[in-house]
Amino acid sequence: MPARPETPTAPVRLADYTPPAWRVSDVALEFDLGIDSSEVTAHLTLHGDSDVPLRLDGEGLELLSIAVDGAPLHADRWRQSDVSLEVDGMRDGSVLTTRVRLQPAANTALEGLYLSGSRETGFLLTQCEAEGFRHITFFPDRPDVLARYTVTLRADKARFPVLLAGGNPDGAGELAEGRHWARFVDPHPKPSYLFALVAGRLEKIEHDYVTAEGRAVKLVIWSEANAIDSCHYAMDALVRSMRWDEQAYGRNYDLDVFHVVATHDFNMGAMENKGLNIFNAKYLLADPDTTTDDEYKAVEAVVAHEYFHNWSGNRVTCRDWFQLSLKEGLTVFREQQFSADMNSPPLKRIEDVALLRRAQFPEDAGPLAHPVRPAEYREINNFYTATVYEKGAELVRMLAGRLGSEGFRRGMDRYFAENDGRAATLEDFLGALGAANGIDLMPYLAWYGQSGTPRLRARGRYEAEAHRYTLTLSQHTPPSASQPDKHPVPIPVKLALFDRDGAMLPLHLDGRTHGVETVVVLDTAERSFTFEQIPQAPVPSLLRGFSAPVLIECDYAPAELALLLTHDPDGFNRWEAGQQLAARAFDDCRSGNSQALDAWTGALAQLFGKPDLDAALLADLLTPPGEIELAERQEAVDPSQIHALRQTMQRRLGQAIGAVALEQRYRELAASGPLALDAAGKAGRRLQRRVLELLALIAADAAHALAIGQFRSARGMTDRLTALAVLVRHGADGATDALAEFRQRHADNPLAMDKWFAVQAQIPGEPALARVQALEQDPAFTLKNPNRARALLGTFASSNPSGFHRADGAGYRLLAERLAMLDALNPQIAARLATAFNGWQRLEPVRREAARQALTDLADRPGLSRNLSEIVASVLSR
Ligand code: ZN
Repeated sequence: MPARPETPTAPVRLADYTPPAWRVSDVALEFDLGIDSSEVTAHLTLHGDSDVPLRLDGEGLELLSIAVDGAPLHADRWRQSDVSLEVDGMRDGSVLTTRVRLQPAANTALEGLYLSGSRETGFLLTQCEAEGFRHITFFPDRPDVLARYTVTLRADKARFPVLLAGGNPDGAGELAEGRHWARFVDPHPKPSYLFALVAGRLEKIEHDYVTAEGRAVKLVIWSEANAIDSCHYAMDALVRSMRWDEQAYGRNYDLDVFHVVATHDFNMGAMENKGLNIFNAKYLLADPDTTTDDEYKAVEAVVAHEYFHNWSGNRVTCRDWFQLSLKEGLTVFREQQFSADMNSPPLKRIEDVALLRRAQFPEDAGPLAHPVRPAEYREINNFYTATVYEKGAELVRMLAGRLGSEGFRRGMDRYFAENDGRAATLEDFLGALGAANGIDLMPYLAWYGQSGTPRLRARGRYEAEAHRYTLTLSQHTPPSASQPDKHPVPIPVKLALFDRDGAMLPLHLDGRTHGVETVVVLDTAERSFTFEQIPQAPVPSLLRGFSAPVLIECDYAPAELALLLTHDPDGFNRWEAGQQLAARAFDDCRSGNSQALDAWTGALAQLFGKPDLDAALLADLLTPPGEIELAERQEAVDPSQIHALRQTMQRRLGQAIGAVALEQRYRELAASGPLALDAAGKAGRRLQRRVLELLALIAADAAHALAIGQFRSARGMTDRLTALAVLVRHGADGATDALAEFRQRHADNPLAMDKWFAVQAQIPGEPALARVQALEQDPAFTLKNPNRARALLGTFASSNPSGFHRADGAGYRLLAERLAMLDALNPQIAARLATAFNGWQRLEPVRREAARQALTDLADRPGLSRNLSEIVASVLSR
């Protein structure tokens, strides 16, 4: 296979979009599959202007033959480069046939056609989004070329008994020499990134589903034999997702079959290929002995996400990759609604906002910041980011909030109707939502084109005599290198006002009465809102439900936040008040004050005693913002200091509650009986974990004894891993034995072993590096498997700030070394892990210099992939 092509590094620009000169109406693909060598014949029915040469994408393809309308094409009619094939004089309606050879087993990038697992027992599969199809055959590999696919697979029947492709089955049969074939036809035109095939030895579970419209659909989930018993939860989640999309959005499934396949070798979470979803096993397999509660939720969410793409992404796809959030932000939002319906709306909102702050806010504040709709990119795979996904979902949520649930449904119906079978843009989306409601939503486009998290400042002024409360809101987005001038965006602020007893006040604004909650929209740099008939100086509860993805600055007194924390009836906002108070408590710890710290610990100690509070919500209330989020509050970031301060404030919280109360609650929660996987069971374990963690900070011996007991008698992975994590992070006496036991028990389960690596990569502080280096020598470690590489190196670099950010720079050097090695195998994973360097400019000077050195050394290495070099260059810029 030719070496990785030296692809041009000129950026692709949104402003340069032009429609394709040639389109493809029909594709007939034939695969002769083998592990070392596979051959692909493609017949493309082409439409375009003969005066314009046909240009097809193709990379790493060994061209065996080329013909037009059945006749071999003379050599002077075509040219092949590293990345393309050009043909002159094509006629409208002609059929171009190419035959190419691929080497699946040699494909370590996991893009295009590749082998999952071993040569002996593994299976073949494809991954095409975003630009993998060009590694399979010559094609206009861009999402605005929609074609009908007919796919014929041929392979040795003993080695590849199962043959799958997207679309409906259209025949199968035997061939000579122990080979067989199967054909699939997809009636829905689709872009090439949604093509998929799978071939190998796989087991299945099935379910017969009938859509609301009456279509009988065979649902099939496939995995390797040893995991097939772990697919039932995913099937259940799939059925619930399908029903939910019918009810919430009127969207029905549109093929006779829906296949889902699990693989342990996958770069991302999962992929929505039409009729043939492919999942990272981490997001499909679930069983109580090896899957934690949080992972169960993730399986449910990702199954739903991929299924929902069938409409938001597949039936309506993207015109170009700049519109990626059109499908991803929208689909994340739809998944968030589904998960909220299936579980608890406030808890889901807490999780989503926590993720946004942990992953997206730092991205938006650093050198990797980009708009939800970027203006340019070099490597599109680097733009599957928290900004495109999570901030994108927040923007859809704002629009939905603006229209109300009925208006949003009306708008979505119109969006689907107008754009079905089309490759659409964000303008199409906002246009349809607005037109269905007689509202101009185009001002919201500003959000899509501008990077950075807006800062919302709120100031209140109470006029006692006039019984008038004036709230002045202003906004400011800090400039960034590519956007020195930021503009105001429309910010919907959902709010309520509380009196000093914690009761909500009726709102009289602009001569109208609004109940106790209303939404005001700040669409200029500054605006004031005056509330009448307010009997006393109120405590404002702002941005309720996190009504816009902004950073809020409001000069609350600690007692005011404590009032909201204890009284706000909305679970999300109660948590939010607690988070703001905790951040202030953190500042106190640093400066030696205690006002906010006392208010925070006092309010939580009081809530801890309340019997009626939901256990999961209490667990979240007892959790301060993470170290990454707290780092955003420091000028010269010292991650080991942040870790120590956060431990201190949690210790103070533990002391305020008291060891006796904690231990007593722990024993109540550590109930016996069979494992309950319902919401109450999960909530109890979540609180039990938090209580044990707090206890470990104030009564280590007692907590470690409890943890060892919990580990030994664990009824499932949540209990086992929680106990193991407490022991390992504290370097407790039982930690080594527990790790050995865990390993022995789960040696054959890759997903459980990933957790074994990850838990050790999270040891705080100094000792982490040596442990990571030792684990790299473990026979079970390999850089070739993305999940394993992420479990050890990704966890260390991205989830263990005090371990990774050593003052001596050894963490940075280790990561840089591994990125270079990884880059030669799998550039997408290397680039993804490199984002751990984001934020290095804000480190204190010693670490900053060490990080800069490691990064520049890495950037200077010859032959880096476009993926990794783009990230390293961006991170170093500014
Ligand atoms: Zn998606």
